Amino acid sequence: MPRRCPECGGELSYNRDLKMHVCTTCGRMFTREELEDTYDRLMEERKSKGRRRAQLI
Ligand SMILES: [Zn+2]
Repeated sequence: MPRRCPECGGELSYNRDLKMHVCTTCGRMFTREELEDTYDRLMEERKSKGRRRAQLI
């Protein structure tokens, strides 16, 4: 499934030789682990923002 670059929101393409996801827009490279870590962090940030707004839904 296509994933978006956590940095700029650009499209990522998987480079089989490097075994890394490369952003086609900003050129940043992420391993699968790095991507997952970054997405986890973003999710946590979003969650804490939601909590600050005190919305339960
Ligand atoms: Zn990017």
